[in-house]
Amino acid sequence: MTDCIFCAIVAGAAPAVVVAEDERAIAFMDIHPASDGHLLVIPKAHSADLLAIPPEDLAAVTLLAQRLARDAVDEFGADGVNLLNSCGADAWQTVFHFHMHVIPRYLDKTRDRLHTLPWTPDVAGDRDLISALGSRLAATV
Ligand code: AMP
Ligand code: ZN
Repeated sequence: MTDCIFCAIVAGAAPAVVVAEDERAIAFMDIHPASDGHLLVIPKAHSADLLAIPPEDLAAVTLLAQRLARDAVDEFGADGVNLLNSCGADAWQTVFHFHMHVIPRYLDKTRDRLHTLPWTPDVAGDRDLISALGSRLAATV
């Protein structure tokens, strides 16, 4: 795909600190890290987002992300890891080539710029709405 920065990285036409790759997926360091060791895992073949990526590429990306999450704990001493994917501009996606963020997390906040969840998980939801939405999804499978 032309004008895609991540396709350019896959092609070797744009610089990146590549840390791992296999036949379908490649991982490189994020240039605006949310924490020390923040990296991105992408499919080598262009897919715009989570809704478009084929299952084989999603599986390859996810497995490589899991391996690198383990490495973040073993090599960097991360206390935890967040995997994050943003799907759609309204969900914070800014680069429209599918990518999974692997974000090592640290109790030491000099290594970690994330502080709180962007929602409050202890606020109870509307039980009727939760049931109704769950039923609609269950009916589509
Ligand atoms: P998102 O906002 O979820 O689409 O994430 C896009 C991510 O790509 C951001 O965290 C950027 O810092 C990162 N990014 C953009 N361009 C590059 C690049 N050339 N090399 C590495 N990371 C990049
Ligand atoms: Zn691309």
